[in-house]
Amino acid sequence: MRATFYGVRGSVPTPGPATVRYGGNTSCVEVRLSDGTILILDAGTGMRQLGQRLLEEGIAAPLHLLITHVHWDHIIGMPFFGPIYRADTTLVLHPLVMETPTHVLAHDEIFDGQHFPLRMHQLPSKLVRPQPSAEDVPWRIGSAKVTRVRLNHPGGSTGFRIDDADGSSLVFLTDNELQPPGARQISTVELARFAHGCGLMVHDAQYLDEDLPLKQGWGHSTVFQVLELARSAEVRTLALYHHDPDRDDAALDTIALNAASYWSSRVGAGQVVVASEGLTLEVPPS
Ligand SMILES: [Zn+2]
Ligand SMILES: [Zn+2]
Repeated sequence: MRATFYGVRGSVPTPGPATVRYGGNTSCVEVRLSDGTILILDAGTGMRQLGQRLLEEGIAAPLHLLITHVHWDHIIGMPFFGPIYRADTTLVLHPLVMETPTHVLAHDEIFDGQHFPLRMHQLPSKLVRPQPSAEDVPWRIGSAKVTRVRLNHPGGSTGFRIDDADGSSLVFLTDNELQPPGARQISTVELARFAHGCGLMVHDAQYLDEDLPLKQGWGHSTVFQVLELARSAEVRTLALYHHDPDRDDAALDTIALNAASYWSSRVGAGQVVVASEGLTLEVPPS
């Protein structure tokens, strides 16, 4: 399995010279399974470049879209995703955990003729929406088994675990507050069990300790909380993700240094990285 980051920023795009190394596009990760199946995790602004890449490659196979939730930074790239304007594209929109059969999905909200000039039915590509299965029932996408989980986030968010047939596994957890002030959908212990032993965990690490308590309840985690989760879940590689829009490249370099220091002293095996646009991680079988 291989994961490539096209957008790593949280909340809002942050273009400009101070963010050029880690990137300013919002949430979007491409995953290629061992059988070549393509999954797209989130449809933030990074999705535009991913679309260009897929068009260059001439990919005609179905594209599987897993959206964590419908906050703007996770869906706004959708109208600018080139493949949706081609009749030979099939996009499979997989269910979120919090939707009901009547839930209005991101696509309809964006392609309503007002937020974007086109309406859904005017798009030449084909959109397939598999029926939601029971929340705790895994389902198949290509060579992988996919499991979802409810996360702690205002309005809800969906976490995914992707277990490929070759033994590699990826867990995608954004946006998620590991220690929310009120009621929670999932505890850190339960989440560590969900992510246990995975080859790559991508987790929202928007805040630093000093951002709390002001930003408690906003639906995101601190770098330290995420490191602790990765350690207890025994993940092989941790990618810190969903960077705060106020964090420039220098600030993310500091986070990378401190996280690496934590990792070498408390974890040992594996690695922690600060996700950056264009970064590709090979996920070995574990
Ligand atoms: Zn977000
Ligand atoms: Zn959100």
